Amino acid sequence: MSAPPNRFIEAPDIWPPPGTSAPETNMPSWGTTIWRGTRCICPRCAKAPIFNGYLKVHPVCSSCDAPLGDMPADDAPPYIAMFVILHFLAFIVVLIFRYGWQPSAYEYGAMLVALVGVCMVALRMAKGATIGILLKLGLKREVLN
Ligand SMILES: [Zn+2]
Repeated sequence: MSAPPNRFIEAPDIWPPPGTSAPETNMPSWGTTIWRGTRCICPRCAKAPIFNGYLKVHPVCSSCDAPLGDMPADDAPPYIAMFVILHFLAFIVVLIFRYGWQPSAYEYGAMLVALVGVCMVALRMAKGATIGILLKLGLKREVLN
């Protein structure tokens, strides 16, 4: 009985593969790539979703075969989401203390629910943008054999 084939053996180490000049391997501009990523659609073709669920990434784009699942986003999306959200949160906290507003428990609860919702949306957008950046840079996950 032989070992199952490793699907990474045939895959190129960088994306797009070197020496390919076909238009379909070209990536759009940085702004377009990041904008498409934040909208959670394929940064390369904009015709298919990046995610299969909340944060699970499709292994390859169903439209253009871009290797979305091989992009090592790792911890970058939570850092980016926290960096952006916590700056807005700090601004709100400063306003609360500056004007002496004392929210009730229900208002704190509503703000907490809104904060969780905003964080969940921001995390998804940050992960899409990170995958777009990695795809544009051609950085694939390193495969250790
Ligand atoms: Zn695509």
